[in-house]
Amino acid sequence: MAHDVTFIPGDGTGPELAEATRRVLEATGVDLRWDRHEAGIDEYEAHGNPFPDATLASLKRTGVGIKGPTTTPVGAGFRSVNVLLRRELDLYACIRPCKAYEGVRTRFPETDIVIVRENTEDLYAGIEFERGSEGNATLRATLAQLGATVRDDAGISIKPISVFGSERIVRAAFEYAIARGRRKVTAAHKANIMKFSDGLFLEVARRVAPDYPDIEFEDRISDNLCNQLVSRPEEYDVIVLPNLYGDIVSDLGAGMIGGLGFAGGANIGKHAAVFEATHGSAPKYKGRNRVNPTALMLSGAYMLEHLGETAAAQTLEQAIAAVIRKGEKVTYDLKPARDDPTAVGTSEFADAVIEEMNA
Ligand code: NAD
Repeated sequence: MAHDVTFIPGDGTGPELAEATRRVLEATGVDLRWDRHEAGIDEYEAHGNPFPDATLASLKRTGVGIKGPTTTPVGAGFRSVNVLLRRELDLYACIRPCKAYEGVRTRFPETDIVIVRENTEDLYAGIEFERGSEGNATLRATLAQLGATVRDDAGISIKPISVFGSERIVRAAFEYAIARGRRKVTAAHKANIMKFSDGLFLEVARRVAPDYPDIEFEDRISDNLCNQLVSRPEEYDVIVLPNLYGDIVSDLGAGMIGGLGFAGGANIGKHAAVFEATHGSAPKYKGRNRVNPTALMLSGAYMLEHLGETAAAQTLEQAIAAVIRKGEKVTYDLKPARDDPTAVGTSEFADAVIEEMNA
């Protein structure tokens, strides 16, 4: 069966990573019909909009996209394409598997965890009141009436966590665990400190967990989780977290498996899913055929799984793992020294993965 997929190359090193990924996905033999659309800084500079309506319309039509990284200018400029995407398509679940592959230098070779991060609420909801603003003064006055004093030189960010948002992300974690044969879900929080936001998240997780009797459930305070992840990573499996902790623990997980070059991921909603690497556009390497395409290729394998092409997803993942294990036709970041002359480029890494799949 043919699958329509929106293909967004992105900017910076995005297009070369996306091209390498497109080639390995096609080499699996799965019939993918690409609907190519632009997003990112190049599109902004050319046509004044980093996230064209046509790109969004295509994602709404196909329901599945693969996306190279896109640059977000710091300070002035435009809003993050990724934030817009998650909001427009309500991609509430960010799923980031962190598995250490043999051949990658890491102090945590036993790591095989999956981070399930809530994508829409928490301190990232964008409800902020600038120091000195009228809104800030109004809010502080209301808080004062409620008996809560906030200094008048404070900036304020609000942390909403709802039953609705918590329930759907906790269920997403359990559903993921069941579908992938995982054994345990750990909910991470600071319910000891933030009783009405993180406390609610934990309360919902505890209420939902018995609906999935075959999956073990536990909770951890998030600072303790970080400590335990780097001392006993093998004890963790699927970890579900509110937005902010999920963001931080995702990078911890990426570090544990050898770096951002290996961390793939997916943003999933009820009506659409967009697959992309955790890392950014690494603009200093743009056009140099140098960066490691593993993270986006793995995201491509997760996309195949999502499309029900499980065998092809496994073939692709195994081929990537074999290339990394052999350590010959790999990019500079996988070599013992960064200036190793035997390192290959992004495109040749893709060739090696295709060779492995055809072997
Ligand atoms: P980055 O991840 O792009 O790069 C940081 C460093 O990590 C690079 O200089 C490089 O040394 C290394 N690196 C990253 N990806 C690599 C790869 N595939 N192979 C080898 N090395 C790799 O982070 P940044 O420099 O903070 O961000 C650059 C831009 O990307 C920013 O505009 C940021 O907003 C954006 N960004 C986009 C996304 C996304 O589109 N999903 C995610 C994060 C950051």
